Amino acid sequence: MFLIAGVQPKTRRVDENPQRCPVCGLMQAYTTRVDHYLSLFFIPLIRVKRGEPFLLCEHCERSMQTAFEPAPSPPLDGTERVCVACRKRFDRSFKYCPHCGQRA
Ligand SMILES: [Zn+2]
Ligand SMILES: [Zn+2]
Repeated sequence: MFLIAGVQPKTRRVDENPQRCPVCGLMQAYTTRVDHYLSLFFIPLIRVKRGEPFLLCEHCERSMQTAFEPAPSPPLDGTERVCVACRKRFDRSFKYCPHCGQRA
């Protein structure tokens, strides 16, 4: 029998703003997330697992955990916002919380 349904990983870019790659130093690392979709006939249908965001460099193709500066908790200065889900701070320009993936 043919196996037509399965779970496939799908890579999504969470943030279009490039970050500096800690490996090669170029601004070509993007916050990326790998979600897992239940797919049928290779068409993703239902998202079954939301991945943790990580940095993926397009230059050297290294991926690394988002080691966002171990923030010494500076006061909110208008460039940051607080995630409604995990209460952590992140840059206002992010469309998604880099900590938990919550849509901003
Ligand atoms: Zn790199
Ligand atoms: Zn969050």
